[in-house]
Amino acid sequence: MYWQKKLETMDAEELRALQLKQLNLSIARAKNAPFYRSRGLREVKSLEELQEIPFTTKQDLRDGFPYGFLAVGLNEVVRLHSSSGTTGNPTVVFHTATDIDQWANLVARCMYMTGVRPGDVFQNTMGYGLFTGGLGFHYGAEKLGVLTIPIGPGNSKRQIWFMQKFGTTVVHILPSYAMHLYSIVEELGIDPKADLKLRIAFIGSEPHSDEMRRQIERLWGVKAYNSYGLSEVCGPGVAFECPEQNGMHIWEDSFIVEIVDPATGRVLPDGEEGELVLTTLQREAMPLLRYRTGDLTRILPGRCPCGRTHRRIERIKGRTDDMLIVNGVNIFPIQIERTIMRVPGVGKNYLIEIHEERHMDRLHVKVEVDREVFHGTLAELTGLKERLTEELKTELTVTPVVSICEPGSLPVSEGKAKRVVDLRTKNK
Ligand code: ADP
Ligand code: ZN
Repeated sequence: MYWQKKLETMDAEELRALQLKQLNLSIARAKNAPFYRSRGLREVKSLEELQEIPFTTKQDLRDGFPYGFLAVGLNEVVRLHSSSGTTGNPTVVFHTATDIDQWANLVARCMYMTGVRPGDVFQNTMGYGLFTGGLGFHYGAEKLGVLTIPIGPGNSKRQIWFMQKFGTTVVHILPSYAMHLYSIVEELGIDPKADLKLRIAFIGSEPHSDEMRRQIERLWGVKAYNSYGLSEVCGPGVAFECPEQNGMHIWEDSFIVEIVDPATGRVLPDGEEGELVLTTLQREAMPLLRYRTGDLTRILPGRCPCGRTHRRIERIKGRTDDMLIVNGVNIFPIQIERTIMRVPGVGKNYLIEIHEERHMDRLHVKVEVDREVFHGTLAELTGLKERLTEELKTELTVTPVVSICEPGSLPVSEGKAKRVVDLRTKNK
């Protein structure tokens, strides 16, 4: 049931002692990096003292480009990765051989936790190369001893062909791509539940709602587990759902977790929503102290029935800068997704647009509907549009302009989905 039972079920006190020891090791290592050297770091006597260390931000990483955060000699570095650049210039991250091994171990731990075992066939549809989703999972799966197909993204028909021919049981896939790929499966007249052996999907890398996860599970006949990570501290494997599917265990032997108020930086108590801040405890090449991830979540209270003691974070709500302000009302794209996914026949793909009409903001929500629904009567389509408008209005307190779109008509990207297009001139 556990990959590393002792570590995964360690009691809180032991875990804290381990964290303190590792934290001082991380601080000592960090001091070798030009960025941290100038910060005059010293050893801490308790975990509470961590709060006296200033944050490290994405901007710091960008300013430190290319080698400002490297804490070891180049002769010890074996790999470079970079973030996807979703919110600006990408940042680079270095790994020693030990870093790669420890990262693979975390991914293996995550996979094992959900029931993946040697004998499974794992198809990794995430991008290989600088993006960490591909290689991160690849090394983890191989460490676990699972046949790994490094197919990478795109070429949907080939993806399905591999699934059929090799009896793929486990897939790692972007949630938006899982929805898109299903439409191809449908087109080919394949019933995933009867014709494929898939049983587990790892979905992550982009924000998605629980409603979308349930759709993916229903359509594909799999259990879908939320996978969270970011390149700056390794990549996938930072936090992951266990079979309870209720929050993601964040591996506290490898990271110290803090949740802070994004505006003031004040550390918030467990249970309150804020920005996730991570301190790496194992990384050699590029230790990060109090890194502001920009991701919004909270720590879930209580122990998980699975027996793991590492605390759980809630599904990521979005990034601090994902929040849309429409005529003064704050909206997170995920609220829109959650709402439309609840309406039957709707939601394989959607797009949010914000227009400016006579100096006012106007929220447009374009949703694809299932083929049978699209070919329904005009009265049915009008009814659906009214229902969506009403439900979105209740959720958001803003009345959107809803358009019903033909399946396959909205843009799909090969990487992370781009859900929002802001057409307001003031945001250009
Ligand atoms: P970038 O920040 O440029 O997209 P990465 O490829 O390193 O770079 O992606 C990490 C980011 O992706 C995280 O900070 C988070 O915003 C998002 N992310 C990763 N996994 C998830 C997930 N399971 N749910 C929501 N967002 C996620
Ligand atoms: Zn659990």
